[in-house]
Parts: sequence; structure tokens; C-alpha cells
Amino acid sequence: MAAISKRNTQTAKDRSRDAPITPLRRMVIPRPDILHTYLEYKQINQYLEYLVQRYPHFVRMHTLGLTHEKREVRALEINWMNSDNVELSPLIREQSPRSFDIAPNGKSTVPVVHQGEHCRKTVFIEAGTHAREWITISTALNCIYQLTERYTRNIEVLRKLRFIIVPLVNPDGYEYSRTKNAKWRKNRRPHKSSKFVGTDCNRNYDIFWNSGPSKVNRNTYKGECPFSEPETRAMRNMLNRMSSNLLFFLSLHSYGQSIMYPWGYCRDNPLYWRELSSLANSGRSAIKSYNGREYRTGSISCLTKRTIAGSVVDYVYGVLKVPMALVMELPSRELGFQPPVEMISQIGHESWYGIREMCKRSYDLRLQIVRENEPPLPRPPRFEAGNEGVATETLTASTEESTAAGGDCAKSKPKKKRAKRTVRATHDEILRIQKGFKASEPHVLPEGIQALPAGLFPRQLEPRVPPVKRSGLSRDGRGGGDGVILTSHGKPPISSTMPLGVFL
Ligand SMILES: [Zn+2]
Repeated sequence: MAAISKRNTQTAKDRSRDAPITPLRRMVIPRPDILHTYLEYKQINQYLEYLVQRYPHFVRMHTLGLTHEKREVRALEINWMNSDNVELSPLIREQSPRSFDIAPNGKSTVPVVHQGEHCRKTVFIEAGTHAREWITISTALNCIYQLTERYTRNIEVLRKLRFIIVPLVNPDGYEYSRTKNAKWRKNRRPHKSSKFVGTDCNRNYDIFWNSGPSKVNRNTYKGECPFSEPETRAMRNMLNRMSSNLLFFLSLHSYGQSIMYPWGYCRDNPLYWRELSSLANSGRSAIKSYNGREYRTGSISCLTKRTIAGSVVDYVYGVLKVPMALVMELPSRELGFQPPVEMISQIGHESWYGIREMCKRSYDLRLQIVRENEPPLPRPPRFEAGNEGVATETLTASTEESTAAGGDCAKSKPKKKRAKRTVRATHDEILRIQKGFKASEPHVLPEGIQALPAGLFPRQLEPRVPPVKRSGLSRDGRGGGDGVILTSHGKPPISSTMPLGVFL
């Protein structure tokens, strides 16, 4: 018996020794459908993980921080020109910077801060700061999709620029908006001093933070002090680290259908407003050529007709001195914060055309903008130095839900009105100048893209259930109409002179 048993054991050992070595099978991460549905937080992470697994030679994921409810704020880095990219020639690989660094904690990775000639070639895109603006998250994911799964179509920008994209800055708020209250805008950190929950992350950055009014019960509550929120601290840490490399920063919001440049906190224009305006106009023209949708461009305070302090775009442009920074408010008033799912891919694709064009334009403008020797920032009229971090507002009993559009500019005293009129006159002047150079700079369509008649969508992009009617017929009934958007009630579209809501 013992002999037989010994023989059996030996045979099994020999078998295992002689068997060919099979590599451990990697778990394949399924790919969530980003183009036709609003994803959950977990599915968004799954998509990012899927891409890292599929394109390890140029895609990296970084965790920026944890929210109050312990969700991760994640960034995806897409960096074609790196020394680990096996698709590059050996010579180019040798000249390219390495792909990532190890964070000070020794556990996670962080993007490499490039030196020398590779400086200032990073585009930073962020979305999902405001919980209810679901379409911004899908659009950021579409940018990621274009730069990874469709990388051959976008190789021109990938060869020039590195991308860092944060598709969901405020995951706690987003999950709350998805499951409990679709109108929720802020994050979900409760305040010790009151029954109210949440801070507007786009009022919490440290740039004249104390100059705007703010009440804890409002949708636009700025927080107890600058960077009081985990989400804004996570963003700040990454932005500060990368600031010397950033060329163009883009903040996605909805639904003003406009591309805006600083300042938001005051009514002055920055020194390089012409370049910023030209950058915004390049995006506007690309989208118009793509499917006829008309964006508006201008400064934040001009287009929203109010000042907005503590926003990320002002912080990046004013404090970090990034050469170019814009806010893009996606369409549209008719579609709202959460357009029907049939519109997700159309808005994503048309926005990508605009964003890609702005990325190219930012690269062309990079040598014209030198921010180092600028005069000090203009001060907002209501700023009280030394009073930072003190919330002086009295609390009122109205609920968060009753202030769906937020807004601290509803009450206006006659004094303020006078000030506004003067500023509007200045902005009218600026708009006239903008119109001037728009005409002298005709937009050149990217290769292979045919110009479409204004107001008509390409057939393949037509939504199955269009939420708005378009007047596609001309007066003689033969098509090629003026493309005026009609709402489902047949009302005319919003006039370009109407102010936006507080959606930024
Ligand atoms: Zn927003």
C-alpha cells in the first residue's frame, strides 16, 4: 500500500513539474456603457479601471482624496508621450518623460511634474462639481472615451498634450442627486452649527472667497472657510502640484450653453481677455460647424450678469496663474441639468469637437501668454481683508429644495443697479470687439469634417426622442431652414440677452 501511495505522489509531482506554466488569468473588467446612460459612481470608477487595464501604456488613474462619505475623487491621466508607451518609436520613448511618480505616502501614484521643454502641456478638465449636473459627468467621460478608445482619431492632440480629467469632483452629491433628490447641487458634508447639509464646492476656493454673500441654507453656500470641503482640498492638492505644467483648465457645468472666461469674482476683465475670448470662440465655432448649436462666449460676470466668488476657474487662473482657464456651460435651458439619455452621446460628441478645438488653440496660444509679471489682481468691491473664514450670515428657515436655482443676486438695491449698468456698458463694448475679430478669423474645420448647414444635426446624431423641435424647413418648404429651436410648447428660444441662472 505504502509503495503504491509513494508511486502515486511522485507521479502527481512529476505531472505538475512537466505541465506547461499557464499565466494567471487576469480578471477582465466589463466596460460600462458611458454613451447611452447616466452611470452610477461605481460604474464610473469601473470604466476608469477598465481603461487603465486596456491601455496601460498611456492611461493612469490617480486618487485625489476622499469625500465625507468616503468616496474617492479620482483623476484619469492620459499621457501619450511617455517613456512607457510601447506604441512610440524607441527614440521618441527615450526623449519622453516617464509616466508617473509615487506619492509622498508611498502607496498611490501621482502625475509626473514635467520640467523643461515638456512644461505647460497639460490640459486639466473637471466635471461633476455640482451634483445635479449629470450631463457634465457624461461629457467628461466622453472626452476620456475619445482620448482612449478613439485615440487614433485624436492622435494629433495626444501627441501635443497630456490630459488630466476628473469626471466626478463631487461623488457624494451625485449619488444623492441620483437616488434621493435630483435637484441637489452641493456636496453632502453636514454643518455642525446648523441642520443644513452641504457646501457649494464652486464657491469654496481661496480667491477673494469672502467677497460674496453666502447663507448656509442656500444652494450657493460657500462653506465656513476656503477649502473647508474635502472635495475642494482634493482638487487643490492636485492643481497646486501640477500648476507649473497646466496650459489650459476647463471646468464643465450646465446648462447655460456658453463658454466663459474669468473673472467671476469681479467685473473687470483679465489682461489676456482677448486670448481667452479667442480660445472660447474657437470652441464655439467648432460646435456650430459640427451641428449648428450656438454657444455664447464672454466673461463669467458679463454673461451671468452677477459676480461669483470662490470658483475653481478664478482660483486656477488668478492664484495658480495657469495661462488659460474657461468654464463651459453645456446645453441647454430646454434640456435642463439631466437631458434625456438619448441626448447623452450627441451632447458628448458635439462638446468634444469644441473642447478638442480649444485644446489645439490653447497649444497655439501658449507662447503668447506670459502671466508672471502681471499686475496684482483687481479687488472685488465687497472684499473685507482679514475677515476670511468667518461666516457672518444669519440663518433662515427656508429649505434647500425651495432654492433650486440658488442665487444670491435676487435682491438688488438701486445702488447696485447703477453699478451694474456701467459695467454692462463696458461689456457691450467688449462684445462689439469680439464680434469684430470673430469675423476676421474664419473657423477652419478639422480634416475630414464637412460643414453642416446651421441648425441641422447630422442624421446619425439625431436623438430617437428629440426633446426639442427644430424648424428644419425653410420658407419654401425644401429644408435648410434657420434652425430656430422651439420648445415642446412651441415657444421661441431663450434670447441671447437673457441672463443665465446661477448655474456656474
Ligand atoms: Zn455648475
